Amino acid sequence: MTIDSLLNEYRRHFPANGDDGQNLIRRAFAFAKNAHKGQKRQSGDEYFSHVFETAKQLARWRLDAASIAAGLLHDSIEDCGVARETLEKEFGEETAGLVDGVTKLGSLKYREEDANIESLRKMILAISKDLRVVFIKLADRLHNMKTLSFVPPAKQRRIALETNEIYAPIAERLGMQSVAGELEDLAFPYIHPEAYRWLKDNVRESYDERQRYLKKIEPIVREHLRKAGVVPLSIDYRAKRFFSLYKKLLRYDMNLDQIYDLIAMRIIVSTIDECYLVLGAIHQLWPPMPGKIKDYIALPKPNGYQSLHTTVFCVDNRPTEFQIRTHDMHEHAENGTAAHWFYESKKHDAKAAQHAIADSKEVLWVQQLKEWQNQFPGSQEFIEALKVDFFSDRVFVLTPKGKVIDLPTGATPVDFAYKVHTDVGDACVGAKVNNKIVPLDFQLQSGDVVQILTQKGKHPSEDWMRFVKTNEAKKKIKASVHKKEPRARKAEYRIVVAKRIGAVKDILAIFARNKISISGLRTTDEKSPFPTIKVAADIGAKERAEEIMLKIRKIDGVREVGYKII
Ligand code: MN
Repeated sequence: MTIDSLLNEYRRHFPANGDDGQNLIRRAFAFAKNAHKGQKRQSGDEYFSHVFETAKQLARWRLDAASIAAGLLHDSIEDCGVARETLEKEFGEETAGLVDGVTKLGSLKYREEDANIESLRKMILAISKDLRVVFIKLADRLHNMKTLSFVPPAKQRRIALETNEIYAPIAERLGMQSVAGELEDLAFPYIHPEAYRWLKDNVRESYDERQRYLKKIEPIVREHLRKAGVVPLSIDYRAKRFFSLYKKLLRYDMNLDQIYDLIAMRIIVSTIDECYLVLGAIHQLWPPMPGKIKDYIALPKPNGYQSLHTTVFCVDNRPTEFQIRTHDMHEHAENGTAAHWFYESKKHDAKAAQHAIADSKEVLWVQQLKEWQNQFPGSQEFIEALKVDFFSDRVFVLTPKGKVIDLPTGATPVDFAYKVHTDVGDACVGAKVNNKIVPLDFQLQSGDVVQILTQKGKHPSEDWMRFVKTNEAKKKIKASVHKKEPRARKAEYRIVVAKRIGAVKDILAIFARNKISISGLRTTDEKSPFPTIKVAADIGAKERAEEIMLKIRKIDGVREVGYKII
């Protein structure tokens, strides 16, 4: 846990970035060490070890100095009561903003009964606003998972599930395959303890046997490739990850003999041409299994993964999987988005990738980020490209119980209320956002905790139509308003009055007192001793017309009143 080991890792990827970056990391290191002084992890380790490991992981992912500093400081707001302003003053806005982002993510909690997992994943991206915040959170979670055995059992399962359902898929989508796999493997024993034990007891022997087998064929492969004119950068044996093996076994009746890629031979070469050359050479040596040749170079997986896969009938006719890719592709597969953009992308990648990802919006963001990296290859611009508003058209807010509600941008507490339940919307009289009273036309932001204040017997106001954004709310407000007041009806009164000064005024006063608007007034037979007044009025309900008529009849001078509904 020395500053030097951290700085060494940083300098490996940023040799030219000189003193500024290193100074920032040094200061964050000292600050965090002091802030967490005396605090212990549940393992008994110093708390500082956690933030140190988080920072080190970020350095390994080649993230910049601000991210590494934020990694060191990521628990200082929440666990040490350090104010954001203090961090801003000490380390600048950028680092403080990253720490603040990570702190905000901390308030999101996964609940098993919450079916809205996809929204929660999106919300994490929406709140982050800067992919570096997500990377810090992933590094934080990776270390927490590695030390999960020290956490009380009741909490273990929740954290493991959250990791499996939320963070591993996010890593996967960002192309951080190996991080996703590692998180899943770390969570596996806590989520499916029996299956994990079964696998451990039954797989070890197969793994060892496969390993020996591949060692035996490696010289044959090398010799054959040499003849074909290719010298691989490396050949290794990749043992299939436990959790993905488990998922595959479930599909194959737990029959290990059906799993050909229990351990795959991985061949890393320098160029794409060599990838295809190696594939051809292997197929020359051993016949491929039909349907098992996958060209993820021409058609990358949705998360950008590129490689050639083939399963061949190898020595002793044993099905054996080979994976062939370039060093860049390998780096990308291991570290994903974080690392990949530091390499020049091959021009045709983007084009080929578009076929595979056309229908996946999320992948398009990753693709877009890569394109930005191509357009702005400098480091500062790259960081700007990480500040991305993933969901410019959606906001993700929380109920007081932590359920995620997904709404369009500009949505208000009324939209939220109707999304929760029609009754909540109809009875809504006020709202609190993050514990503060707000007006009902308040625009919600991602991450807001929204509480609706209701009152029994209340009805929605037609005025809400002015600001609500969701069609759902609009429809329900309309429906409710109409239920309360059926379409306004008009009545036409025919009133015969004796000539009396003020009679018309008295009649009109009746309408005014009853808040009924008049849309027409005519007097006929001016010369007659009993002129007729015709009044058209919006009386609303039919029963009111009768009521008003009786009132008019009582006016002095009125001889006759009749009405018809028009
Ligand atoms: Mn932490």
